[in-house]
Amino acid sequence: MSHTIAEGENALAPASALPSYLEADNLGPWGNYLQQVDRVIPHLGNLSRWAETLKRPKRILIVDVPIHMDDGTVAHFEGYRVQHNVSRGPGKGGVRFHQDVTLSEVMALSAWMSVKNAAVNVPYGGAKGGIRVDPKKLSLGELERMTRRYTSEIGIIIGPNKDIPAPDVNTNEQIMAWMMDTYSMNTGSTATGVVTGKPVDLGGSLGRREATGRGVFTVGSEAARHIGMDIATARVAVQGFGNVGGVAGKLFAEAGARIIAVQDHGGTIYQEAGLDVPALLLHVARTGSVAHFEKAEVLADELFWEVDCDILIPAALEQQITAANAGRIKARMVIEGANGPTTPAADDILKERNVLVVPDVIANAGGVTVSYFEWVQDFSSFFWDEDEINARLVKIMKTAFAGIWQVAQEKQVSLRTATFIVACQRILHTRELRGLYP
Ligand code: NAD
Repeated sequence: MSHTIAEGENALAPASALPSYLEADNLGPWGNYLQQVDRVIPHLGNLSRWAETLKRPKRILIVDVPIHMDDGTVAHFEGYRVQHNVSRGPGKGGVRFHQDVTLSEVMALSAWMSVKNAAVNVPYGGAKGGIRVDPKKLSLGELERMTRRYTSEIGIIIGPNKDIPAPDVNTNEQIMAWMMDTYSMNTGSTATGVVTGKPVDLGGSLGRREATGRGVFTVGSEAARHIGMDIATARVAVQGFGNVGGVAGKLFAEAGARIIAVQDHGGTIYQEAGLDVPALLLHVARTGSVAHFEKAEVLADELFWEVDCDILIPAALEQQITAANAGRIKARMVIEGANGPTTPAADDILKERNVLVVPDVIANAGGVTVSYFEWVQDFSSFFWDEDEINARLVKIMKTAFAGIWQVAQEKQVSLRTATFIVACQRILHTRELRGLYP
């Protein structure tokens, strides 16, 4: 089954009558995103006449992904690719393999990509994809067959100039290599630029794997400077110790910070003197989780949120900081490595309690920034060295954050609303310049 809902299908519906799949009262990530948009509309001036654009994904593709399992049966998985907005360039955003993936989640993640890409001013729209599957239950062969069939199914809307997937939760360089190969086989030419986050030997970029964590560290350090916090003496708690949380934790530790608590899907660990981060990274690479790390105490999962720390980095999944735990957070600053980890209600509680939230849409934009570098390098078949990549990344992140900080001060709004103001103005300005077709 393949069903596309394209822009224009709802042209006869009055602006207020949203299609059922866009309803905000069905809370969840998409509902949270709609609330974030509503907070920014009063700041958009004349561009607010286009604001409805932000509330309607341009294109939603739901695909059935059937594969042969190793035991001879046939299994079906549900896959999605959502292109939220392509006014500023091709769609761009990761692919997530997780048992809890829903259409609402992928829609929200695609919209946050539109905002993020505009916030750092890379020439992309926003997109996201996912398959509702627990990939840990698949063999390597099953994982490859599922990835290839999914790529074929979404092949009708992706491409180096149309929409460029990348890794996200539970997807990695190998999966990007299979996606690139499948798309290339189907189109009859080697199209390295169809995905980013590929292995370096296949047109991937140096520095891409670490880029998101490096961006979290860069923007977090800038924010700390603004509020007079010394990173070298900061105590840090990290949720999620994968690509984003692991690299961010390593960079904060290298800057002198103490990583005192880490939580992942396997459990929560604590070490007042500061965890041995290189040893913990090796342990996670070997065992798949921070659980059973011998040089730490075990902490009950729920206590993670009240750990006495200066910086809290959620770097796992969305909707982790909610009205239920925001009041117990002791950190002075939350840096969102994950997408959508804080609900709007929790945002309000943290603001009231004077906790600075550095939002996902700028804090974790380092990944897509180096993905952009990868895409540019693939087009020119000319590859840069890692120092150049890291220097360009840091420059883009610092420039973007400085502009956002200034808007937040001028308008007396949160950093999230400031980022949305900067980004949505860029998106809607291009919407207006391009005009409506036909
Ligand atoms: P990953 O798969 O490498 O790591 C995910 C981590 O989250 C793992 O440590 C896992 O154990 C942990 N986790 C999963 N379920 C959990 C739970 N219920 N409680 C606590 N921890 C749990 O994924 P990643 O690439 O590091 O992505 C993490 C977040 O960062 C996601 O929100 C993703 O969208 C976002 N992000 C990733 C990138 C990127 O370049 N990889 C870029 C921008 C944003």
